Amino acid sequence: MVEKAGLLKDAQSRMVDIFDRLGASSDVCRRLEQPRRVHQAAILVRMDDGSLEAFPAWRVQYDATRGPGKGGIRFHPNVNEDEVATLAFWMTLKCAVVDLPFSGAKGGIQVDPKTLSLLELERLSRGYVRAFFDVLGPDRDIPAPDVNTNDVVIGWMADEYSEIARRQVPCAITGKPLGVGGSLGRVASTGRGALEVLDIWIKRQGKRPEDMTIAVQGFGNAGYHFAQLAHEAGYRVVALSDSGGAVFSEGGLDPTPIWRHKNESRELRSMVYCDSSVCEEADMDVLENDELLALDVDVLALAAMENAITHDNVDRVRAGAILEIANGPVTSSADQRLEERGITVIPDVLANAGGVIVSHMEWVQNRTGDYWPEQVVNERLAERLVREANLCFDRAEKEDTSPRTAAYLQCVERIARAMESRGTQSYFTDR
Ligand code: NAD
Repeated sequence: MVEKAGLLKDAQSRMVDIFDRLGASSDVCRRLEQPRRVHQAAILVRMDDGSLEAFPAWRVQYDATRGPGKGGIRFHPNVNEDEVATLAFWMTLKCAVVDLPFSGAKGGIQVDPKTLSLLELERLSRGYVRAFFDVLGPDRDIPAPDVNTNDVVIGWMADEYSEIARRQVPCAITGKPLGVGGSLGRVASTGRGALEVLDIWIKRQGKRPEDMTIAVQGFGNAGYHFAQLAHEAGYRVVALSDSGGAVFSEGGLDPTPIWRHKNESRELRSMVYCDSSVCEEADMDVLENDELLALDVDVLALAAMENAITHDNVDRVRAGAILEIANGPVTSSADQRLEERGITVIPDVLANAGGVIVSHMEWVQNRTGDYWPEQVVNERLAERLVREANLCFDRAEKEDTSPRTAAYLQCVERIARAMESRGTQSYFTDR
């Protein structure tokens, strides 16, 4: 069992009030207070110099009530059991918030992928599938990309799964490249979903994209697509950051040339010092990463990692609202403080659900063999988010509570209903 400390403990602390408000049965509380299964492995990789390295890896299946497990695989030096279990817990909630027939799972390898050669990375990715093959599968647990695992990594993993299974099993993993059963629209889906949820929220406030400024922390897969789509929709994206630094322009930034440059130079900071026309036109300044978090903008979009806003820096936040594109970027104590200060937080379980929604569509397309145009994928994504986000925002208004509390009430109600259908204590005691 996972040691109840750190991230999971903090994440679980939000549940006390939710169980209380819903009058949840002890069965529901007991089932959600710990992961069902924690799998751990040491992945042995032959390095290019001939040495053998061992990388700690995990797959956590938090719950299995509403369907097979679903959740990404993260490659990062800070990955540990507590983090993977917490991310699996949030996946459980997220799948239920947007009413997908999945339960929550997550995986990770403790590694700095930037220190590996491409071949070492491929051996490690394939090693993950070999280590956890027996507990994965289209009806058991379906992995997907997360931090530092793009479609190339997922392509190797999908190939390894099919090699071991000795047949094509495209629905065993999502986020695949298009040539091996990936879905159109998957790459941009997390960012697109986040923008969709923001659009729904600002419309309800009677505001327009043209009136809004945005700062984005984290310029990776989720952050870039969100920033680009927001820019196209008329929002003014004034600041962007990655782990190396931040750039700012009062007049607004165009994310695509910056993304292209970053992928060539691998550093956002270098944008400001290059002599291309993009830099001259954009008139950018360099910021420290923590300065971006304190900008006076309408929306601060957090798309990097957990714990970006904590008790220590929460009072420096000047944004009107926070959009949680990353998982768990605001700690529970910071959350309370933001609520006291009247700063709305649009929670991760809703704001970043676009990725898993389109992953579900990829799984459905793989199972039926019927592949949809990108427009259909994007329309279905929008349709689901309009329905589920409005349910959350309506509930928040009606019950005079935060969007996070409303989203948690929505998902725990659904999970509890499924648990009750499978049999709870009340079956024995209420007869
Ligand atoms: P990614 O690896 O593509 O990008 C992460 C970005 O964050 C990188 O640009 C990195 O440099 C930056 N970063 C890291 N630490 C930072 C810091 N202290 N300050 C500023 N920038 C920092 O990862 P991603 O897939 O975009 O995932 C980002 C977040 O979104 C994670 O929390 C992930 O769990 C969540 N998420 C991703 C998806 C998805 O489909 N990719 C889906 C749901 C949730």
